[in-house]
Amino acid sequence: MFCSLSRLYRGLSRPTRRTTQLIWSSFSRSLVLSSQRRIPELSSFVARTNTCGELRSSHLGQEVTLCGWIQYRRQNIFLVLRDFHGLVQVIIPQDESAASVKKILCEAPMESVVQVSGTVISRPPGQENPKMPTGEIEIKVKTAKLLNSCKKLPFEIKDFVKKTEALRLRYRYLDLRGVQMQYNLRLRSQMVMKMREYLCNLHGFVDIETPTLFKRTPGGAKEFVIPSREPGKFYSLPQSPQQFKQLLMVGGLDRYFQVARCYRDEGSRPDRQPEFTQIDIEMSFVEQTGIQSLIEGLLQYSWPSDRDPVVVPFPSMTFAEALASYGTDKPDTRFGMKIVDISDMFRNTEVGFLQDALSKPQGTIKAICIPEGEEVLPIFLKTNNNWNSPVAKFIMEEQGLGLIRLLETQEEDVVLLTAGEHKKACSLLGKLRLECADLLEARGVVLRDPALFSFLWVVDFPLFFPKEENPEELETAHHPFTAPHPSDIHHLYTEPQKVRSQHYDLVLNGSEIGGGSIRIHDAELQHYILATVLKEDVKLLSHLLQALDYGAPPHGGIAIGLDRLMCLVTGAPSIRDVIAFPKSFQGHDLMSNAPDSIPPEELKPYHIQVSWPTDSETKRVH
Ligand code: ASP
Repeated sequence: MFCSLSRLYRGLSRPTRRTTQLIWSSFSRSLVLSSQRRIPELSSFVARTNTCGELRSSHLGQEVTLCGWIQYRRQNIFLVLRDFHGLVQVIIPQDESAASVKKILCEAPMESVVQVSGTVISRPPGQENPKMPTGEIEIKVKTAKLLNSCKKLPFEIKDFVKKTEALRLRYRYLDLRGVQMQYNLRLRSQMVMKMREYLCNLHGFVDIETPTLFKRTPGGAKEFVIPSREPGKFYSLPQSPQQFKQLLMVGGLDRYFQVARCYRDEGSRPDRQPEFTQIDIEMSFVEQTGIQSLIEGLLQYSWPSDRDPVVVPFPSMTFAEALASYGTDKPDTRFGMKIVDISDMFRNTEVGFLQDALSKPQGTIKAICIPEGEEVLPIFLKTNNNWNSPVAKFIMEEQGLGLIRLLETQEEDVVLLTAGEHKKACSLLGKLRLECADLLEARGVVLRDPALFSFLWVVDFPLFFPKEENPEELETAHHPFTAPHPSDIHHLYTEPQKVRSQHYDLVLNGSEIGGGSIRIHDAELQHYILATVLKEDVKLLSHLLQALDYGAPPHGGIAIGLDRLMCLVTGAPSIRDVIAFPKSFQGHDLMSNAPDSIPPEELKPYHIQVSWPTDSETKRVH
């Protein structure tokens, strides 16, 4: 994974893997590049005069005090000191009169924290290090203080050392000292700052905190439950501030935003974890296009200045189109290999499974063409004009030619073909499309430009999907507060499955990084959808229904997943690399060992008891 990271970083002034010095040099440069217009004062209020990374020839002769970690020591003469801003070389004094300074600096183990004071001098001619931003100077130390000694570390702080993620998470505070995590978290902070500036200062949004102790309400992801001291009563951690932000609109706050922590008890994935952060937004008197322009402007404004600028407006695609051409609602539009419907070509086919598929409702035959696919897929339909496949003998000449024309296949391409119900066939080919792209790239075929950020709006989602476990029943595609599409509202009372919604998702390079909708502000309509279509217990949402009846303005909003966004911006392999203290894949904090057990007497005030699983149940959990 790191190899693709380094590829991504080429030319972007971000951490590279060459040498530690180079890493720190590009790191400090990139922070300067993407910093705010006013240069921040990095040494105010503290026991240093300068940072390690900032000293240059222009500081020659200055008396400085630096604080940092011992990164490296050579021959008991040179010592490299590191802080968050970079590295500097320190000369350990050798004369008798400075014996105590020498002792401190030579005996302190690596990664000990020291404070040194001395003079900035130029390095002797020929000893400059052009790879190090501070490479023209060094510090002639006069005094030194050991601020804290470091025990033997479980791993080296050097970047890109192959430590397992579990070890990194267990010693997260050490992992954070590495240049990559420093870069990711600082860039995240800078982007959030820019977002606040854009929203509050340029567009009058109000930053409002909403509760994290809430109650379980229907219609969304699985929520975490928090016991209370009242018997049988529980709080719930909100999966998002959705209801509160709508209530803020009823309260006339008009333009709300929050860097909001959200909780979903759904297990971790590389791009998901039980608690995550959203840039949560809601506006009154707005339509879909208004929200979309706001978000395009927000991303453009907060985008790191050392990346290619964000081009707006973002392209848009309907859900139906995304499914038909890419087999997913989050298409990666950085490359082609689109799905093509070839059903018509095979209407008279003699191939049993194709005939069978076409005779069913919604039955289709679909194909994708993998350019140079022969490299990775020695099977299936190969089009060097001789079809090489178990079904090739059933493909008539004109069908073969038709396929070549429709799919624009060339020598060495491979065609993947599937037959079945439209949605299933598309989503299967959509998955294969991504797998093949990974395989081709692993073989060196360049498909996706690593410097490219391809944003896409996906719109016109269905308002409801049939439930997987019981297709007769419907569930919401986004959440139950999403308004129906005005042109489909007439279907709502007769054929609700046909209604499109005013829901929009923002996709970046094939990842969903945001989603929102125009909301229902009419209490009666909201009640109908909750009670009649979704069969939810409306009592649980009576506060919201009541509020809608008291002059709720038309409103809409969106939430941008900050962790996923930062993961893509930094090219990190997982969202855990852009979160300071993430949970493991299993939802554990490996550093503190959360979740942890509680003695039974401490559970008493909550009137709850642990019902310990049997052996077989425990096995199932793990
Ligand atoms: N609350 C929604 C979510 O978390 C976003 C929105 O509709 O604004 O996905």
